[in-house]
Amino acid sequence: MKYVKGLKCRECGREYPVEPIYVCEFCFGPLEVIYDYAKIKKALSRRIIEKRPKNLWRYKELLPIDGEPSAGLNSGFTPLVKTERLAKYLGVKELYIKDDTVAHPTLSFKDRVVAVALTKAKEFGFDTVACASTGNLAHAVSAHGAKAGFNRFIFIPATLEQSKILASIVYEPNLVAVDGNYDDVNRLCSEIANKYRWAFVNINIRPFYAEGSKTMGFEIVEQLGWEAPDSIVVPCASGSLLTKVWKALKEFQQIGILKEVETKIYGSQATGCSPISTAFKNGTDVIRPIKPNTIAKSLAIGNPADGFYALQAVKESGGAMEDVSDEEIIDAIKILARTEGIFAETAGGVTLATYIKLLKDGKIDKRDSTVLCITGNGLKTAEVLNGQTAEVYQIKPNLSSFEEILKRIRQKEGK
Ligand SMILES: *Cc1c(COP(=O)(O)O)cnc(C)c1O
Repeated sequence: MKYVKGLKCRECGREYPVEPIYVCEFCFGPLEVIYDYAKIKKALSRRIIEKRPKNLWRYKELLPIDGEPSAGLNSGFTPLVKTERLAKYLGVKELYIKDDTVAHPTLSFKDRVVAVALTKAKEFGFDTVACASTGNLAHAVSAHGAKAGFNRFIFIPATLEQSKILASIVYEPNLVAVDGNYDDVNRLCSEIANKYRWAFVNINIRPFYAEGSKTMGFEIVEQLGWEAPDSIVVPCASGSLLTKVWKALKEFQQIGILKEVETKIYGSQATGCSPISTAFKNGTDVIRPIKPNTIAKSLAIGNPADGFYALQAVKESGGAMEDVSDEEIIDAIKILARTEGIFAETAGGVTLATYIKLLKDGKIDKRDSTVLCITGNGLKTAEVLNGQTAEVYQIKPNLSSFEEILKRIRQKEGK
């Protein structure tokens, strides 16, 4: 059963057949997958979804594949955690963490997009998959590509965190570290994609890849008992995840799973790489490319491909955008860890810190039910915490040495 009608240019509306292409030949606008929603509405219901295995393919009619999924069979359906201690700490009523730090094989939300991209690459008949990555995509393509039996070429900026390089190379892809930033890597990859018949998941497969991000939105709604929250805060690199979370809500409305969507979408960036939030705050649609300089490397895209569309989604929903300093990011990582026991990577720190700022500025209401998209695991960027954590107590292996420390700890706690 096919639910995909084809590809369509987001700018001029020209339609294309389903092929590994990503830009409109006439106006160079990006292509997007379009579906037959009337047909999906007949095929899909809450009850049907609920009976399926707990992975991201439970929404497969709304994903751009023709046959059965062949990658990411144990990705998705990550926990939606209702916070108690964090909500109390911030003085808010109903706060949830969509926790993509766990339950995915490669511990970030990129498992979602790669599951869809690799399934589609197989349908197209590719034997080699590739990507330009800020780290998490490298990890996900390396791992899922190994399992699916693809040749893999992974391109990263040479300055990437050591832990992310190791997390990719262990799966033995061809890992190419480029002397340049992500935007340089991406430009090189576009050239390579023109010359070699490889499935670059975030270039020529991008229209399909990006659809995988919708599953985060679908899951939030399902896990809230088939309701959309008042607010969702989403971190932005290229801006794709944010646009797709918004698309997910609207699709659920289109097929009758949600009655209406009044959710406001908020975008978060690091101040050291904030081309989208800066445009929002300046009240312009023009996104000025910048050179990234932030510890939030997974979000460090200076020239965001979907920045314009992310801005539109934020505005259409009535949300806002904000950005936060590296210091605020580290503080937020620590707050989330000590209140909820969740260890997020820098991108997660960006999201929580942005939420705190938006609350303070009165841009998100304290009474709103809010979901924070925490998109990657802290072990991947642990080095940013060097010298930034609480003290580790050093003692001799005897009781008196321990009790000396215990006295200090009690004093510190004021007991
Ligand atoms: C890739 C990524 C994002 C968002 O990326 P988009 O390009 O905006 O879709 C968010 N968080 C993490 C941890 C990521 O790796």
